[in-house]
Amino acid sequence: MTDGGEIRVGVTGCVGNTPLILLKKLSDALGREILCKAEHLNPGASVKDRAAKFMIEAAETAGTLRPGGTIIEGTAGNTGIGLAMLALARGYRAIIVMPDNQSPEKYAALRALRAELRTVKATKFADPNHFYHTAKRLGDEVKDAVWTDQFENLANAQAHYVTTGPELWRQTEGRIDALVMSSGTGGTMGGTSCFLKEQKPNIRVVLADPPGSGLYSYIKSGELKAEGDSITEGIGIMRITQNFARGKVDDAIRVVDKNVVEMAHWLLAEEGLFAGSSSALNVWAAARIARDLPRGARVVTFICDGGQRYQSRLYDETWLAEKGLSPQAQTLDDVLK
Ligand code: PMP
Repeated sequence: MTDGGEIRVGVTGCVGNTPLILLKKLSDALGREILCKAEHLNPGASVKDRAAKFMIEAAETAGTLRPGGTIIEGTAGNTGIGLAMLALARGYRAIIVMPDNQSPEKYAALRALRAELRTVKATKFADPNHFYHTAKRLGDEVKDAVWTDQFENLANAQAHYVTTGPELWRQTEGRIDALVMSSGTGGTMGGTSCFLKEQKPNIRVVLADPPGSGLYSYIKSGELKAEGDSITEGIGIMRITQNFARGKVDDAIRVVDKNVVEMAHWLLAEEGLFAGSSSALNVWAAARIARDLPRGARVVTFICDGGQRYQSRLYDETWLAEKGLSPQAQTLDDVLK
């Protein structure tokens, strides 16, 4: 059986081939089209299902992951959720290492998916107890285990080079003027931008980056520098991964928490789109980039996961108030200020 027809084979067969959504009110107001790849509609409810599937299949092909084996990954949550879901379907165990500062909804999802969850203190990458190094160590210690290493494993970007990029090219019939997105491991950016630039070299690729991440300054000046922090999860990093290095990025835009909160609540109220924080950041950046392009231009971005994953944070007034945040905008112009 193939995954190409009406019937999809198992949850694995449901990964990818997501809809491309035109944000109608936003596009009408801007006079430019904002198209969102609806990655929250994957079976594990995030963009990371694609990387999870490709990394598992690469390990199976390499013979390192065998029936009854264990998958180990360090993650902000979504990759772990994708891996845990596919591990159940394919007969593996999943050990997921996460920093302790992520949304409660992601830990709950992982427990429900029967992952063995290990939380470690959120700390800087140089600390040997960082979730990345902890997962790597576990990979050496646990018998029959594979550490999937989503940051440096090029099967991650390859998933987007082979699936996301071609899907976007087909869905837009090759009419894309700009590609705007944030980056965590860099898999989505690496694979998608590489594929689309090969089809059409003058597509403008813009990285959207939160405070606390070094990628914005890296693109602007070649130096990894950062200040501040962000309520966003799963994006922003202080090193250049092999997956990110595969990308072809022309420019970068900084997006602060106020922008994220205003756009998240505007998308919900006006488009009925319940988006996660990185997705709201993406759409804010896409709208700002679109404004500087000619009328009728078309900008593609990503809904990486849904608002359900941040209900107790981004969509909770009390939590937001503790961070000094609260959606105030009355108009789209206010949102985009
Ligand atoms: N948004 C969210 C919510 C994520 O969890 C991730 C993955 N960490 C990303 C965006 C970025 O995706 P990538 O790892 O492909 O850069």
